[in-house]
Amino acid sequence: GPAPEGDTEARAWLARHKGEFGHFINGGFVASASGKTFDSFEPATGALLAKIARGGREDVNAAVSAARKAQGAWAKLSGHARARHLYALARMIQRHARLIAVVEALDNGKPIRETRDIDIPLAARHFYHHAGWAQLQDTEFADQVPVGVVGQVIPWNFPFLMLAWKVAPALALGNTVILKPAEFTPLTALLFAELASAAGLPPGVLNVVTGEGETGALIVEHDDIDKIAFTGSTEVGRLIREKTAGSGKSLTLELGGKSPFIVFDDADIDAAVEGVVDAIWFNQGQVCCAGSRVLVQEGVAPRFHERLKRRMGTLRVGHPLDKAIDMAAIVAPVQLQRIESLVSQGVTEGAALYQPPIELPNGGSFYPPTLLTAVQPTSVVATEEIFGPVAVSMTFRTPEEAIQLANHSRYGLAASVWSETIGLALHVAAKLAAGVVWVNATNLFDASSGFGGKRESGFGREGGKEGCYEYLKPKAWVGRKLRTGP
Ligand code: NAD
Repeated sequence: GPAPEGDTEARAWLARHKGEFGHFINGGFVASASGKTFDSFEPATGALLAKIARGGREDVNAAVSAARKAQGAWAKLSGHARARHLYALARMIQRHARLIAVVEALDNGKPIRETRDIDIPLAARHFYHHAGWAQLQDTEFADQVPVGVVGQVIPWNFPFLMLAWKVAPALALGNTVILKPAEFTPLTALLFAELASAAGLPPGVLNVVTGEGETGALIVEHDDIDKIAFTGSTEVGRLIREKTAGSGKSLTLELGGKSPFIVFDDADIDAAVEGVVDAIWFNQGQVCCAGSRVLVQEGVAPRFHERLKRRMGTLRVGHPLDKAIDMAAIVAPVQLQRIESLVSQGVTEGAALYQPPIELPNGGSFYPPTLLTAVQPTSVVATEEIFGPVAVSMTFRTPEEAIQLANHSRYGLAASVWSETIGLALHVAAKLAAGVVWVNATNLFDASSGFGGKRESGFGREGGKEGCYEYLKPKAWVGRKLRTGP
């Protein structure tokens, strides 16, 4: 059939690079010192998308020394001068929004509607927002200095948005960066580095080193890096915390979640059903703060589940570049297998499985929207992050029981409460162990609001003024009054 709209420019970009990408170090692409590569596939078709450099010690060393060399001059720029760079990056994202959105959809397998309307605009907004903080740096953070050289390791579920969450504040506040995108989704980070360089970002300020977990580990262990910012699984987060302990490196961790989505008897049921669609089927459920535990008050549970099932039957699963679909591909076969195995474990442990009779595309990694009801709170599907389009539903009687059930988790990233009684919603919200609580809403993000977790969901915040502090260190200037800017 004809190439979906917007495909052409992305294919041309891939062709220009002959389908093979080096690391982006000190302002240009370079192959791995070892010559090693790995393959990146299109989740929707299984086809090879690109060959990607596999970063080793020499590559990480080169990136770190480029970042170290660039950091002094970058930090010495006035806040206004750095803000001009961030505004340029934000405008550059908007100018190339379609290309970035298509590359992201091909590489990750997520719907173009989401990359076009959510991921890419939010990323641009993040750069605009942080341009503002750069401008205010001399007055708002006069007693703070940049952390220095920062290693940033990000996951595959929102490759470009997670890049923005990490890179924008780091650069705005005078740090330089070595970024490692996830092995499943390296392309938009490489595209961004290329475009940023063309937009005038000085060499060495942003370096992208690609590779798998070992490359990430080399960054984490590097002696000349001042801070590690990590988003990914709780398991790897724990490893990184151990490895950096006692190293003097600063650390922020944004990890997994198993967020409760609480529906009270008096909730607006239609709105809550749409909320679940957004909470667990957006991005195929591969969302750290996905409302994956649906807790429904007993009185409304039968009606709620019935409406939810009906709505599930109308969801369309298809190719990422098809604008009419609601869900597209799971990022990789290994993730698909993980979802399948967790769901069958849930069924073995007594859950009732519902999947609507909808058609899945052939080839590629696809999984239907799925609902598990009658789930026991101790069941593996109620406690483990599935990271797929699987809603797990449990019922409760009283608000106290809802709170107890909601907080029965090692995680504490997000929560969502649905009730038309604002007093009840706020009472419950206050008692939930979560970094963010949404009331009659879900998955709302804004660059001006700090996002992050509690418990095993990690620590540190991204976004807003609190996010800026993660890229600064306090420094006392004692003796006489000094000006911090040039
Ligand atoms: P992952 O931990 O497997 O990988 C994340 C990144 O870490 C990748 O770039 C990977 O190459 C790298 N990595 C792997 N092993 C490493 C090691 N030993 N040392 C250093 N780096 C290493 O996670 P994933 O499967 O890519 O992402 C899914 C997870 O991310 C989920 O648990 C999800 O909840 C979480 N997540 C959290 C947030 C948040 O803001 N809290 C946002 C998005 C995703």
